[in-house]
Formats: sequence, C-alpha cells, structure tokens
Amino acid sequence: MVGERSKQAFERAQRVLVGGVNSPVRAFRAVGGTPYFADHGEGPYLYDIDGHRYIDYLMSWGPLIWGHAHPNIVRAIAETAARGTSFGVPTELETEMAEEIVELVPSVEKVRMVSSGTEATMSAIRLARAATGRTAIVKCIGCYHGHADSFLVKAGSGVAALGLPDSPGVPASVAERTLTVPYNDADAMEKLFADRGDEIAAVILEPVAGNMGCVLPRPGYLEAVREITRRHGALLIFDEVITGFRVGLGGAQARFGVLPDLTTFGKVIGAGLPVGAYGGRRDLMALVAPEGPVYQAGTLSGNPLAMAAGLTSLRMLKRAAAEGAYERLESYGRRLVEAFCRLASNYGLPATGHAIGGMFGLFFHDGPIVDFETAKACDQALYADFFREMLAEGVAFAPAQLESGFMSMVHGEAEIEKTIEAMERVFPRIAN
Ligand code: PLP
Repeated sequence: MVGERSKQAFERAQRVLVGGVNSPVRAFRAVGGTPYFADHGEGPYLYDIDGHRYIDYLMSWGPLIWGHAHPNIVRAIAETAARGTSFGVPTELETEMAEEIVELVPSVEKVRMVSSGTEATMSAIRLARAATGRTAIVKCIGCYHGHADSFLVKAGSGVAALGLPDSPGVPASVAERTLTVPYNDADAMEKLFADRGDEIAAVILEPVAGNMGCVLPRPGYLEAVREITRRHGALLIFDEVITGFRVGLGGAQARFGVLPDLTTFGKVIGAGLPVGAYGGRRDLMALVAPEGPVYQAGTLSGNPLAMAAGLTSLRMLKRAAAEGAYERLESYGRRLVEAFCRLASNYGLPATGHAIGGMFGLFFHDGPIVDFETAKACDQALYADFFREMLAEGVAFAPAQLESGFMSMVHGEAEIEKTIEAMERVFPRIAN
C-alpha cells in the first residue's frame, strides 16, 4: 500500500514538476495509483519515505547491477568527489573506463563517453548517417532508443505505456526518415531493404528487446539482420543501453556472437550515475570530432564521478563473471518466471515470461511473445492488479508490463524465495 507521505509528496511534486515526475514512467500511469517515493536503498532493497521496504526489481530501470548503495561504489564516488567533481580537461579515469569497455565488448575498438543513453543513440545515428551518406534509419516497432526525435516513432517503454501515438513536436521531415519493422521479423527487414536499401544508413536494434517487456531474439534473427545490413552497405547499431554488461559481461553481442558496427551503452556502465557511451569500429569512430568532422561534445561527458562509479562496477563484474555470477542471475530470473507461470496456470490465468542474464519479463498472455503486437496483447489490467498486490507484499516490479524486470548481483536466495512466497499469496487475490 502506498503510504500517506508518498501521497502527500506526489501532490506537492505535481504542483511544480510536470506530472510530478522527471521521467513519465515514474508517474505509474500504466498501473494506476500513486508512486512510492524513495527514501534510500540498501542492496536489493528500496525503502520508501513511509518506511516500507521493497525487494526491488526495478533497480533504477537497469543501472544498479550491484544493487543500492554498494559500499565499493559509494566509496569510489566519495573519494573521487573529494578531489573535484568535473574538470573540463581529460582525466585518466576516462581512459581506464574506455579500456575496460574495449577489452570486454567484442566489436568495440574505440569509445566516446556521453551523459545518457539518449545521447549515445542519437550520436550513433549521426555518425552512421555521416559514414554512409544516407539519411534513413530503421528501428523496430516497440523498441525504445531514448527520446531523440528520430526514435519517437512507434517507440516502446513509457511511450507505449502511456498509449501515446508518435510524439507531437517531432517534425514530419525527421519522422519520415525513421522506417519501422516488427521485431524478430527478418523477412520484413529483407523486404524493407529490397525496397529502400540505398536510403538506409543504419538499423538500430535492441539485441534483446527490453522496452516491450523482455523479448528474446529468435534464433538466427540477429545473424539475419547482420547479413542484410552488410549486404546493403548499411551499418548495424546494437543499442546495448540495457543489455550491456547485463545479459553477460560482453553484452548481447558476445552472448549471441553477432558483431555490430556500432554499439551504444548507458545504465550499467554508470552504476546509477548519469552516463552513456557509444563505440565501435576504429575507422567509423575516427569520423567523430576531433579526429573527424562529425561533431559531438558534452560539458560533463566522461564525468569523473560517473567514471569512478562505472569503473568500480565493471571491475567487480569481471571478477564476479569468472565465478558464474551471470548464470546465477539468470537462474534467479528463470525461477521467478517459472513460479509466475506455474501460479498463473494453477489459477487459470494466461502467462508466459523470459529471463536472460540480469533481465526478465513477466507477461499475462499465453505467448509466445515475439514482438510488439504480441507483447501489447497481454492483459495489462491484470498486470496492474498483480503489480499493486505485489507492492503491498513488499515486492517492487516495474510499474508497467511493457518493461523489463532487473535482477542485481546482490539479490540472493532469500529475496527470490520471499518473492515467490509473495506471489503465492497474491495470485488467489488477483484471480478473483
Ligand atoms: N536505449 C535503450 C535500449 C533504453 O532502454 C533507454 C532507456 O531506457 C535508452 C536507450 C535511453 O537511455 P537514457 O534514458 O539514459 O537516455
């Protein structure tokens, strides 16, 4: 139950903040009711300002792979901040961060740090357009790549949750340069390229879709898109803002063995501080200023606090990966999905789900869920009931069905068991 203090805080916020929030999904419109306001977090737990404790599967929408306030990350931020918060000249931390990314992500030879996932994706398509001399880009329906004009065309995440058509304010001349196809449909991609291949600068793709719930690529799909883009002289951009360092240490590209030309990052690489990055083939990255003519800059790019937090996180991930940590994350995700499906079936409700690395999706739908059409067909009213009842039990899932759940390295057996026990109490309540 959302408490009185959160309700009052939301009323106060709505007087001065648009919708009371700084990012639309935080307003909980997809599930109704009032958002709980965070007070603090500790490991896998978030405490709201009413003193409720939640097992947190939102994890700030993905960045917190080490949970809340991990002592090593907090210490790295504090020690770095004590020496200055931004300099406007290079620091060695930025190089160290880029070295880690280049070492871990197979296709990335050079990196540019930015301050958000949106900056990363919009910079990557600028670069793709400059490299190919073409202007169209292709994105999949229901994928979300941030809020830059070119991406607010059939977008997932909060855009889909609010049921918004494509956003006003995006000039038609920009939107018409974004071509869309269903996710997981290699034939549609082939056909689009057959018709308009010579206009297309790049395909931008979430290699595992995370913004229409968590939807896995069909076997062979990523390979097919790689082959089609190569054959037509277009670039392939993997948007690994969610999947980077989350579905495995080398991201989705290492896991599926398909190498894009450019990759975008965010979330995990900042460990909860504002950060993003794009990188890829050396020859392409050489087109970016100051090596080349494609302009892109940022006052706070490569910010030392973000670098210190992210570096600490990546180095811990390297050690943890060697001990099977990603497999454990995935097994926890699978257990949640299995319990969800088992209980739903016991109570005659349709359900399916997916788990990969530290992300998972729970759908009230018989499945299979392969694209936005099938994802959208799930029972969103039932999910809203499930979400509210789980919250009352002290478990916080994403406040919209068309979003992913996130597991952290500090979720353990105890949290998984408590979550499943809570589901066992909740299903009889929502089935009636
Ligand atoms: N790309 C993907 C796949 C995302 O999920 C998001 C955000 O959720 C973005 C890009 C945009 O990142 P940011 O919100 O940091 O601008």
